[in-house]
Amino acid sequence: MREPAVKKILFWCDTCNIPLLGRRCGCGAEGRSIPLLEPYDLRPALRADMDLIRALLLAQFGDIPIPKIVILNKSGGTDRADLIIMHGRRFGWLLFDPVKRRYSLDIVPEALPFLLPFAKKGILQLDEHLDQTSKVRIGGKRFPLKTPVPEGTCIISYRKKYGTGIVKEGHVRVKELGQVDPVTPDNPDWKKVIEQNRYHLKLLERDALRIIKAHIHDRPVANVSFSGGKDSTAVLHLARKAGVTSAFFIDTGIELPETIAYIESMGVPIIRKAGDFFAAVERAGPPGKDHRWCCKLLKLHPLRLYLSEIGPCVTFQGNRWYESWNRADLEETSQNPANPLQLNVSPIRNWRALEVFLYLWWQNAKINPLYEMGLERIGCYLCPAMLESEYETIRKIHPDLTDKWDSFLKRWAMKTGMPKGFTEYGLWRWRALPPKMRELCRDHGITVEKDYTLRSIPAEERKIPDIAEEIVSIDEPGYPIAKIRRDFPIVHEAIYLDSAAMSFSPEPVVNALIEFEHRYRANVGRGVHRFTQIATQRYWHAHTKVARFIHGEAGTTVFTKNTTESINMVASGLDWQPGDRVITTILEHHSNLLPWRALAAKGVELEIIGINNDYTLNIDELKETLSKGARLVAITHASNAIGTITPVREIGRLCRDHGALLLIDAAQSVPHIPFSLQEIDCDFCCFSGHKMLGPTGTGILWMKEQNINPLILGGGMVESVSQDGYQSVEGYGRYEAGTPNIAGGIGLGVAVDYLEEIGMEAIRQHEEELTTRLIDGLSRFKGVTIYAPAEPENRIGVVSFTIDGLHPHEVAERLDADAEILVRSGYHCCQPLMERLGLPEGTVRASIGLYTTENEVDLLIAAIKEINQGR
Ligand code: PMP
Repeated sequence: MREPAVKKILFWCDTCNIPLLGRRCGCGAEGRSIPLLEPYDLRPALRADMDLIRALLLAQFGDIPIPKIVILNKSGGTDRADLIIMHGRRFGWLLFDPVKRRYSLDIVPEALPFLLPFAKKGILQLDEHLDQTSKVRIGGKRFPLKTPVPEGTCIISYRKKYGTGIVKEGHVRVKELGQVDPVTPDNPDWKKVIEQNRYHLKLLERDALRIIKAHIHDRPVANVSFSGGKDSTAVLHLARKAGVTSAFFIDTGIELPETIAYIESMGVPIIRKAGDFFAAVERAGPPGKDHRWCCKLLKLHPLRLYLSEIGPCVTFQGNRWYESWNRADLEETSQNPANPLQLNVSPIRNWRALEVFLYLWWQNAKINPLYEMGLERIGCYLCPAMLESEYETIRKIHPDLTDKWDSFLKRWAMKTGMPKGFTEYGLWRWRALPPKMRELCRDHGITVEKDYTLRSIPAEERKIPDIAEEIVSIDEPGYPIAKIRRDFPIVHEAIYLDSAAMSFSPEPVVNALIEFEHRYRANVGRGVHRFTQIATQRYWHAHTKVARFIHGEAGTTVFTKNTTESINMVASGLDWQPGDRVITTILEHHSNLLPWRALAAKGVELEIIGINNDYTLNIDELKETLSKGARLVAITHASNAIGTITPVREIGRLCRDHGALLLIDAAQSVPHIPFSLQEIDCDFCCFSGHKMLGPTGTGILWMKEQNINPLILGGGMVESVSQDGYQSVEGYGRYEAGTPNIAGGIGLGVAVDYLEEIGMEAIRQHEEELTTRLIDGLSRFKGVTIYAPAEPENRIGVVSFTIDGLHPHEVAERLDADAEILVRSGYHCCQPLMERLGLPEGTVRASIGLYTTENEVDLLIAAIKEINQGR
């Protein structure tokens, strides 16, 4: 890496006893340089820091006055490790031990001239512990102590010389000894620092304003990304001076209340579009410094949504070189890699925290109160990038928030068998531990794996947790979306908009499958032992649940593999005569077309009804065709390709009038809209379990009367078998020869329970709102064409669209790769329909489920906007 242009020293004016931003002081004196430590950031010690240093000094040495100007230079350590600069001298180290959960202050010999005049304790008279006769060198050596002395740093006094030492395990290690002349220098305040550095502050301001003005018109909109921290406060202040009027703050949902109140007081709009962190963390586990999945959910996604609303913009932000060594080569402008709409400009990238505070104080700008309360960085209260010392501070300010996070961490540690220290020492903050933490683990007997992750404790050695489940929920009024999403852990893996192809299964369904395997796996309808009885009863019960769900108790509900099998059972089970006519439509899935086409071999004719220009079914054509007579009408209730809902009630009446049988392909309707066979007069109804939260390999064939022959024959379907025939069992069994998908069927029953509990009316309303939102959002883009009926009551949550000049597969691939949005592309098993619509490459199809959120829909709209703009 190119050596960045960071300053590695601090200039100090010994005349005024103040830090300088440049080489020369306002008084005219030239500064003395003090070497600093990487990443060379400096900040003033604020109220809580001052109190802490004072308290540590009091405990160790007595009442030691400290100057008004104390500067901290953070550096790398196990946790907080700040070099303290007082009176232009290195004074010592402020350290936090994440294991003992304690601060300590290690003084260095340079501190002695300021300490000695006041120190009342903490002075070790080395003469008392050494033989008077010994003439050994003292500096750098370790000596046994004759009487007990408290452990830690101390002042060493030896034959009128002074030094510092560290007492540990009955020994003292002396650093060096020398002559010390006590001093009591001037004690100026920060006002004086501002005064004497005013020239440099003006220069800094001028340069930053120049940068802002140079880029303000780079894009149609200019704004400030405000985080509530000091750096973006400075940028907000500067940008407002330069004429930038817009700013935004992205609320992650896990902010400290002081920050939110502060943002509000600054008049900055708050963007509340973050995902539910506490739902996601249950699945993903705690984020880490090296695994910050939370940023995507809480920052990047909301940013994408925000940017899609405001369009291309230049965003001024407070990033600085000195924040960390990684940022030390940050350029003045940078294109947001995740978002082509945003150009980022960092006008204070060469400022240190010292400059930022001085500037804000000079300008009398309001600063987030959390700094004075002891925080060094402002962010989420559980940010993994935080130091444990800061977390300890937050514990004191907001125990309610940290208790919640702690209890999650403990529960997670218990669940995954993490060793002690995971929560207690903050080891959760890394996935792969850095060297300092590995050292800490070694010192405390914590095993670290070869890949530097923590080794988990085997399940049998874990204690059973006694921690109450504690998860926040942000349910919408009237629709428990947060609760629902907790039941589908997979929704946090990606943005899934392909529920028309397959829905997810909620935890109760998954648990039912596991329970079958773990507790009572057995065949059904065979034998008398207890397992088979449980299995049989549950499998039978699942049929009654499904029948009740569709209000089809009067008919027979048969479990099949899927819709396709159900339709084929009807096609091959009816007793066809040459000249029989089947009417179907152009909307159909191949599964409701090919089985009828195949009947041509038996002399069956097939008629295909078209659609109107508004994508609705051409009912007049159906009426006319039906009036010429038909044996069966096979029609979809809702199109899986373009979302059209067909008027099945009316069609049912027409079929009755014309003596035709009616088969409904309800694969896309039963899972999404209230459905009742008491209102729809049909003979067969086919749908799939895997599209209605059930397990894969489950489907349903409902029939009003048992007027078809079974497709397959064999075990399980017969009451008795004689030499020349058999007697079928009553009910669905006749159509379920052989061992069925028992666990799947039972799981399907649980899926139905789940849908009923939420309520199909509520699901329909939720999905309808999202569909309208999606269609409205996409229809704003020139170059994007949507294929869907205009009226919400005529469509389900399936939205097909194309982008001019882009193949649907390309769009779907980019959505997956760039935005983690999963959609379907191509023909959707409806090639004749696609041809009829003049779409030889098909469409992109987004489909909505009961667990889909408004945010997800908005993210799709935002991503399509980007793809469309980038064509
Ligand atoms: N009909 C429609 C309307 C469908 O959406 C589908 C699945 N996409 C099917 C039939 C076929 O369902 P399965 O694959 O479960 O047999």
